[in-house]
Amino acid sequence: MLKELIDQFYLDNQKNKDQTRFYITDAGKCPRAVFFKFKNAPREPMDARIMRIFERGENMHRSIFNILYRLRLGVVTEIPIPTSEIISGRADAILCIGNENYVLDIKSINSMIFKRMAAPKEENVYQIQLYLHFFNIKKGILLYIDKDQQDMKEFFVDYDEQLCNSLLDKFNSLKAQVEKNEVPARLADYPRNWQCSYCQFKDICKMANGEALNWEEFKKKVAEQETQTS
Ligand code: SF4
Repeated sequence: MLKELIDQFYLDNQKNKDQTRFYITDAGKCPRAVFFKFKNAPREPMDARIMRIFERGENMHRSIFNILYRLRLGVVTEIPIPTSEIISGRADAILCIGNENYVLDIKSINSMIFKRMAAPKEENVYQIQLYLHFFNIKKGILLYIDKDQQDMKEFFVDYDEQLCNSLLDKFNSLKAQVEKNEVPARLADYPRNWQCSYCQFKDICKMANGEALNWEEFKKKVAEQETQTS
C-alpha cells in the first residue's frame, strides 16, 4: 500500500516539460531520441525506481558540494552556462586548485561499471568538453562515485576545441532537422546500442524505418496506433 503511494508520488511529479533548447547532457545522445523529446512525442513513463536512483545521485552531489565548500577550493556550484541560442546546461562546480581553474562534473554510477572503468565514458567527456568551451576553462575533472561502495575515481580532461566544434555542429544539424520536421535516422547500431535499451521512445522508434522521415506524417501514424491500443 505505502510502496504504491510512494511510487505514484514519483510518477505524478515527473517532469515532461516541453524542450525548446538542447541540454549539454544531450551531447552524444541518439539524435532521434532528442528530436522526439523536442516534439513531445509519446514516451514510456519513467519507472519510479529509476527516478529514486536519480534522486539519490543528486543527493550524493550535494554531499560532495558541501565538502568542497569546507575545503575552500574557491567553489561555485551548479553554474548555468552563458546564455546561448540553442544550448543550455549547468556545470556541477568550478574549482580552483593550485591557482588553476577546473570544471567539475560528478557522476554516480553502479559498482559493476565503476570497477571496470579505466577511462571516462565518452558521453561524459563530450559534456565536460562543452562546459570547458562555454566557460572558457582549459581543464576539467570527471569525478565518478560508486553509488554502492562509495569509492571514487577521477579523470582529468583537457579542452579539445576541435571536438567541441564538431559537437556544436551536430547540435546545429539537429536543430535544422527539428525546424524542418525531419525525424533523424536511427542509431546505426540500433537496437544493440545501449541507449536503445533505456530509450523511452523505443516503441515509436520501432514503428518507423531506420531512415530519416517526415515528422508530420509519422505523427499521424503514431496517433492512429495510440487510438487503436487505448
Ligand atoms: S530506440 Fe535507439 S535509435 Fe530509436 S530513438 Fe531510441 S535510442 Fe534512438
